[in-house]
Amino acid sequence: MGNTSDKIKIITKYEGMPNSRSLDTYLSKGGYEGLKKSFSMQPAQIIEEVKASGLRGRGGAGFPTGLKWSFVPQNIQGPKYLICNNDEGEPGTFKDRYIAELSPHMIVEGMIIAAKAIGACKGYIYTRYEFFEEIKWLEAAIQEAYKAGFLGKNILGSGFDFDLDHYTGAGAYICGEETGLISSLEGKKGQPKLKPPFPAVSGYLGRPTVVNNTETFAAVPWIMINGAAAHKAIGTEKSAGTKLFSISGAIKRPGVYELPLGYSFERFLNDDCGGMIEGRSLKACIPGGASAPILTPEELKGLTMDYEAIAAKGSMLGSGAVMIIDDRMSMVELMKVIADFYHHESCGQCTPCREGTGWLANIMGGIYHKEGQKGDVDKLWTVAKAMEGRTICALSDAAAMPTKAITKKFGDELRAFIERGAGA
Ligand code: SF4
Repeated sequence: MGNTSDKIKIITKYEGMPNSRSLDTYLSKGGYEGLKKSFSMQPAQIIEEVKASGLRGRGGAGFPTGLKWSFVPQNIQGPKYLICNNDEGEPGTFKDRYIAELSPHMIVEGMIIAAKAIGACKGYIYTRYEFFEEIKWLEAAIQEAYKAGFLGKNILGSGFDFDLDHYTGAGAYICGEETGLISSLEGKKGQPKLKPPFPAVSGYLGRPTVVNNTETFAAVPWIMINGAAAHKAIGTEKSAGTKLFSISGAIKRPGVYELPLGYSFERFLNDDCGGMIEGRSLKACIPGGASAPILTPEELKGLTMDYEAIAAKGSMLGSGAVMIIDDRMSMVELMKVIADFYHHESCGQCTPCREGTGWLANIMGGIYHKEGQKGDVDKLWTVAKAMEGRTICALSDAAAMPTKAITKKFGDELRAFIERGAGA
């Protein structure tokens, strides 16, 4: 599935190797060496190294990883927890499951290093239940790591104890939000909570907790072995390192690619992915999962794949899910799918989200079924505008942002579809 070419391989280092998931294969290319190195360092030094590396959360928000770890109080009594957010529910995203398929030990190793840094005694990998194979592979890697002495009591004779378990979620998008995930892990409804307090202070069972995305943890062993400066040297000044991009659509070579951040979008699409399939042309692109505002071909010209460049175009890098929209795809259908998805996934706690996503889905349902009314496109915009910045979590904004972008950039297509009306 992976398609890494000549680029530096951090996460996809084991691509193409037989039995790449096994501990033996992992050890054959430096596996768990990062862990050994981290055990020669003080927790604060590990955090400083990760901070200096410029690593940012790869789940969507792009928050600096070392900084997040530094928020956990160091000198307090009682347990601290570490959670790997392997829920991967953003539509279009399929890169974390690829890491579990390729190198589950890379995730486990990254978590043990992070646990040492923040002083966590227990960790969980939280995976959505649909990932049957990945769950099996992750659980096997955990068992292998226990047997080899990388998990459990007195890891590698260091005196450090860390237990790691796997937890299967029920498949709700909202459990990819860290406080929703923690609620689910606690056995409650997977509903987000207001912040503050942040999980670093009061998370799982009310204890200090760090939640990071799978890809984030997977990048940590390489940083330990090669050093912060080597990581910082890849990518751009503010977007350091590599990123996995899962690209889909009418292109010749869809799949998962590891690219240095700051890579040219045009080169990615035309060289790495082989360009559009015959007879199709590029109509638009969603660069970072369904919640990222859509970009037109004009906006994609000269674009580089990093947090700042995509934000400057009014969208976001998000989870790195690049969805290519071609000339045969209907914006009405795309907008309807997006609206239905967020309506279905809203947890219902906040009125703007619960009602707003319902309105968007209703209006789009009417348009799609050729019962659209003049003014519906403006109504979509107005509803979306009222949903922003008023809710407990970002799902409401995640529904509003693509709606506003599609109505603004492709409003004429929606209006023309409405005007054609019933029987069109
Ligand atoms: Fe739930 Fe939506 Fe509120 Fe998030 S914004 S807490 S999903 S109702």
